[in-house]
Amino acid sequence: MRIAIYPGTFDPVTNGHLDIATRAARLFDKLIIGVYENPNKPILFSTAEREELIRKAIAELPNVEVQSFGGLTVDFAKRVKAVAMVRGLRMSADFEREFDMAMMTKKLYPKLEFVCLMSRVEYQFLSSSLLKEAASLGGDIHDLVPPNVVEALRKKFKGKF
Ligand code: ADP
Repeated sequence: MRIAIYPGTFDPVTNGHLDIATRAARLFDKLIIGVYENPNKPILFSTAEREELIRKAIAELPNVEVQSFGGLTVDFAKRVKAVAMVRGLRMSADFEREFDMAMMTKKLYPKLEFVCLMSRVEYQFLSSSLLKEAASLGGDIHDLVPPNVVEALRKKFKGKF
């Protein structure tokens, strides 16, 4: 069985993330979305909340599951016996960061392949951080996230949209 991981912060999951997960799920027997427990940036949703939001959003993808993890991503990959790590690429801004990460990953765990899928045009500008900013200011974010995430954001930013 060919297993891939798709690690990230997912604070919260967006349609851009879900598009990458859906497409990656067609390339592998199983895709495990890995939620970083302690990302190196401020977060709005707890690990359990981020996991649950993804779990609901991917309910119809039979070969995709969610797990949270701490520590090195390569150790998570080893633990679940992944052959590849999937990441999404938006325009040129992501490239340098993803390239550095790919190099470091190769150094730490040479057997793991790093697979980048290009973001769809309509999600090129979409990031969880901009989304949170827009939602907190009352922007309409319905087209950018699944319905359960709209609800969760509505609760966090009570009455803003
Ligand atoms: P991280 O903190 O690891 O960057 P994110 O949740 O921001 O976590 O992103 C996880 C992965 O999804 C990264 O590879 C990121 O480039 C990718 N990604 C984020 N937003 C989009 C999007 N709109 N389209 C495609 N890929 C995306």
